[in-house]
Amino acid sequence: MRVLDTAALLHWPLTKLNGKVVLGQRDELIRIAPDREIILDAAELDWMTPSPENIQQATKLAKSTGDLAGLSNTDLELLALTIQLDAILVTDDYRLQNCCAASSLVYETVMTTGISEKWSWYLVCTGCGEINQNGDVSSKQNNHGTCANCGSKYKMRKIQNE
Ligand SMILES: [Zn+2]
Repeated sequence: MRVLDTAALLHWPLTKLNGKVVLGQRDELIRIAPDREIILDAAELDWMTPSPENIQQATKLAKSTGDLAGLSNTDLELLALTIQLDAILVTDDYRLQNCCAASSLVYETVMTTGISEKWSWYLVCTGCGEINQNGDVSSKQNNHGTCANCGSKYKMRKIQNE
């Protein structure tokens, strides 16, 4: 069972749109992409409202990870619904992913096939903070060489391509 965030509702084809959603997403979606309404009506979606207890749990979780301030009401409801149904949360929101990772919740990304285009990696020096865009980020051993400026180790960072 999956709880789908708004990015999934926006980007997934009708055949894939099968899951649980919260009521707040409908207004959000119709505002962003009015032409998706017909698709939403045709999709197999359960529009739900999480219980106050689960909202409370979600709030507590988001507070503990420091993500609460960055989450919208809809985000919080999605997290609460995921807790309530013990479902998989489909989201590209890193705050929601962070909340899932901090508890026992499972998440999936919306653009599962597009990950290589969506993210790029670069190296950043742990000493002076210099960014090396051309470094070797393919190493699995976490050995990405050392900084030409200060000799400290590089570590990998990823950035989202918009
Ligand atoms: Zn350095």
